[in-house]
Amino acid sequence: MTIDLKNLTITKARNALDRGEFTAVDLTRGYLDRIEELNPEINAYLEVFDDALDQAKKADKVIKEGKATALTGIPISVKDNILIKGKRSTSASKILEGHVATYDATVIERLKEHHPVFLGRTNMDEFAMGASTETSAYGVTRNPHDPERVPGGSSGGAAAALAADMCLVSLGSDTAGSIRQPSAFCGLTGLKPTYGGVSRSGLMALGSSLDCIGPLTKTVEDAEIVWNIIRGQDSLDMTTIPEGIYEKNTKNKKDFVIGIPTFVSETEGIDDIIRSNYEESIAKLEKLGYKTKEVKLHNIKYSVPTYYVILPAEASSNLARVDGVKYGYHSKGKDLLDTYKKTRGEGFGKEVRRRIILGTYVLSAGYYDAYYNKAQAVRKLITEDFDKAFGDVDLIALPTTASPAFKLGEKTDDPVQMYLEDIFTVPANHAGLPAMTVPSGTTTVEGKELPLGFQLYAPRMQEHLLFEVGKDFEKSR
Ligand code: GLN
Repeated sequence: MTIDLKNLTITKARNALDRGEFTAVDLTRGYLDRIEELNPEINAYLEVFDDALDQAKKADKVIKEGKATALTGIPISVKDNILIKGKRSTSASKILEGHVATYDATVIERLKEHHPVFLGRTNMDEFAMGASTETSAYGVTRNPHDPERVPGGSSGGAAAALAADMCLVSLGSDTAGSIRQPSAFCGLTGLKPTYGGVSRSGLMALGSSLDCIGPLTKTVEDAEIVWNIIRGQDSLDMTTIPEGIYEKNTKNKKDFVIGIPTFVSETEGIDDIIRSNYEESIAKLEKLGYKTKEVKLHNIKYSVPTYYVILPAEASSNLARVDGVKYGYHSKGKDLLDTYKKTRGEGFGKEVRRRIILGTYVLSAGYYDAYYNKAQAVRKLITEDFDKAFGDVDLIALPTTASPAFKLGEKTDDPVQMYLEDIFTVPANHAGLPAMTVPSGTTTVEGKELPLGFQLYAPRMQEHLLFEVGKDFEKSR
C-alpha cells in the first residue's frame, strides 16, 4: 500500500491509524522504503533501528485495544545526542563511536509511554557544534530541497529526514539555534522551548545553561502535540520548571502586540530576500489583525560574541568527561596523560578541539574575569532587554536566518562566518525564552526553490502564544 507521506501530519496520521485506513506497520514500512531510497544521498540517518517494525507491531496492538494516545504508531527520528536505552548514541563524534546508551533520556521515557516508532538516529554537527552538519564525523547531510546545499545545523539530519519524508517528526536540540535554523533551511516548523521547560536529562550536554530539546515538525499543531508530551518538571534535571509556575497570558488574541526589533534593520549582511520576506511576514500578521510596535533591544547585537565565550567555557567543562577511560574511543599512550592527549586529540574533530581550547582559555586564571565573567554580565543585560520589551509587547518577531540555505563547503573555512549563522536565534537561548520558526515562503536560487523561515519569540513559559499566533500565520499562507 502507498501512503501519501508528503501530506501527512501527526494529526492526520493519528486519525488514519485510529480509523484503520493503514496500520503502524504500513506507515513504518512506508518510511523505511523512503529511507532506503533517499538516505544514501541525503545522509540524514546515521542508523536506522532494526526493531522499527517490531515497535510498529506493538503500537498496532495498542491501537487495536483502543488505547492509542497522541503519538501511538507515529514514526519519529531522534538526534544522535539524545539517549535511547540500548541504542548507540555518538553525538556524531568519532570519540563516542560504538557508545551505547545505558538509560533513556527523560524525553524518550515520556515519548515511550505513547508507543511511537523510533525509526533511527539522525546526523548532526559533532557535539552539536556547528550550523551546517558539516562537522559530523560521519559525513555531511544534504538539504533535500537542493542536495548541493547544507540542511543547516546542528540538527541537520533531523531536519533533512523530516523534509524528505523519512519520518513524521524529529526530535532535536537547540543551544543557539540548532532546531530553528535547520528547520528554516528545510521548510519546517521548529520549536525551542523555554529553558527548563523540557528536561535535559539524557541529552549530551553542550552548553548546560543554554541547551533545550524540542521538536521539528510540519505544522505548529504537531509541534504543540510533541511539546505537551516531552515537557514538565523532572527530578533528574534540577533546572526544570514546576507546572504550577506556568501562567497563561489570557489576553484576547486580537490585542496581542508583536514587537519588531530595530536590530533587524540595523544589522548588515542580511540577504535582501530575507529582509523582504520578513517584512511581508509582518504585514501578514498585521492583516490578521495583530498590532505591531517597534522595540529596542540595546544589547542584542552582542549575543553572538557573548555566546562564543560562554558556550566554549561550558562545553570545555562538559566534554572533560569524554577521556577514553570511562567510555568511547581509546588511544593508548605511554602514560595516563599521554593517553588522554592521544584519545582526545584523535577522537575529537577540529571544531570541537577549537572550542575546548577557547573555553579552557576564557576560564583560565587571569582571563576568567576579562572574558567569562564579562560575557555573563552581558548575557544578563541581553536578558533584561527582553524582559523590559515584554512589558510592552506580547511577542517579538525576527527572521530565523540571515540567508536561505548556503552551499556545502561555503563556510567551512571561516568559523566566524559560520558563527554568524546564530545571529537571530541565539538571543532566545541567552534569555531562556521559547522561540519558534515557521515556514514563510520560498525563494528561487539557481533554479532551486529554497524555503524561508519566520521566527517568533515569547516570554518564558508562554509557548501557547507561539502556538496561537503560529497557527494563524500558517493558515494565511
Ligand atoms: N551554531 C551553534 C554552534 O555552533 C549551534 C549550537 C546549537 O544550537 N547546538 O554552537
